[in-house]
Amino acid sequence: MKVNNMQYEPVIGLEIHVELKTKSKMFCGCKNDPFYAEKPNMYTCPVCFGLPGGLPVPNKKAIEWTILLGMALGSTIASFSKFDRKHYFYPDLAKGYQITQFDEPFCSGGFIKTSFGNVRIRRVHLEEDTGKLIHKTIVEKKVTLIDFNRSGVPLVEIVTEPDIHSSEQAKEFLKKLHQIVRYLEISDADLEKGSMRLEPNISVWIKGSNEIPAYKVEVKNINSFKFVAAAIEYEFKRHVAILEEGKVPVQETRGWDEGKNATVSQRKKEGASDYRYFPEPDIPPLRFTKEYIEALRNKLPKLADEVKDDIIKAYGLNDYQGTILVENVPMLSLFQGTVSLPSIQQANISGTTIANWVINKVTDFSGTAPIDLANQIIGSKTVVVSDSELKAVILNVLEENPKAVSDYKAGKEQSAMFLMGMVRRQLPNVDTNVILEAVKAALKNV
Ligand SMILES: [Zn+2]
Repeated sequence: MKVNNMQYEPVIGLEIHVELKTKSKMFCGCKNDPFYAEKPNMYTCPVCFGLPGGLPVPNKKAIEWTILLGMALGSTIASFSKFDRKHYFYPDLAKGYQITQFDEPFCSGGFIKTSFGNVRIRRVHLEEDTGKLIHKTIVEKKVTLIDFNRSGVPLVEIVTEPDIHSSEQAKEFLKKLHQIVRYLEISDADLEKGSMRLEPNISVWIKGSNEIPAYKVEVKNINSFKFVAAAIEYEFKRHVAILEEGKVPVQETRGWDEGKNATVSQRKKEGASDYRYFPEPDIPPLRFTKEYIEALRNKLPKLADEVKDDIIKAYGLNDYQGTILVENVPMLSLFQGTVSLPSIQQANISGTTIANWVINKVTDFSGTAPIDLANQIIGSKTVVVSDSELKAVILNVLEENPKAVSDYKAGKEQSAMFLMGMVRRQLPNVDTNVILEAVKAALKNV
């Protein structure tokens, strides 16, 4: 029997890799700065080259930051944890194994709240990044070069449960996670440079099922939210077509081909046993005391949702302004820097006015100094008016409009807006919110 297309639904889980921006690498003292290195292989040593005798020493900061991320996601923080070796061969992995975490990750469980419900986090663990292969043509010969500047950079992996059911939901979740990482200031999470890499795993079920399909297809190393969405759409259609033929899609790893706008098969999926995981013998297991974990919890900064509530309350912003500002950290800093300037306060310029300027008129958030923006706002839009001058104009307007005053007293809120408009005719350059507040205050005393 043929099943209607509409009844199929994708079941999506995500794996996200985030490079931590610690000063040094994960297991050695080499500088962690692969994107700005002047030359390949300049930040390397026997440990991150994987030479015999190199001994790994874990980076304390990287472990702290991984735990902080887990806390921000509401994970349970392990009191006992360890590193493991995951064996596989690839030229960018000189040791022949990657140091990662298998069965005792630093953080397990947790969730991110989204508009479509909670997306559960399965685990958050810490590992090392690999080197980078560069494919080039030199003197008409195709060659592959290896740069180990990235080898051993601390890499956090976040794994979700398959709680996502559309490309839009995947995008929303990823944006939220990206925001959390940025607020914690533990990574640049720059998708283009590859310091945040995305891997959706996708299968398809009949809507309403409660059994996760027995297969899944993983799409590796995607570098934009848009491509994740496109890969999900592509895979969904591909799986439905296979299922309609009465077959089951093959469990495999695929890659996203930007040029073809399609996924392409890379390899049939390995099972965990193929990697011969075993505990890393050169790094003793780690134990964390309750005191250590609680001390770390105190370092957890405010995250976007909390900052949004704060600025809405403190500056009378609307929900839209709050949302836009917290979505863009440089924009938020410019707003916060400007709104707290004494000159802005003296000029009685409201937070909403500043938010509007920052959102609508500024194009270079990190390149604009708050003081310059403040001067611009004060100079162009708002004329400083003394309290007594404003009061005199308002009293005059109230006297000339007794009906509006009595309407307001009778509960007609709109009348305050009318009176504000009348005042503004005489003081056209004064901030409307400032006038409205002053009008309401004057109405109380009439
Ligand atoms: Zn090194």
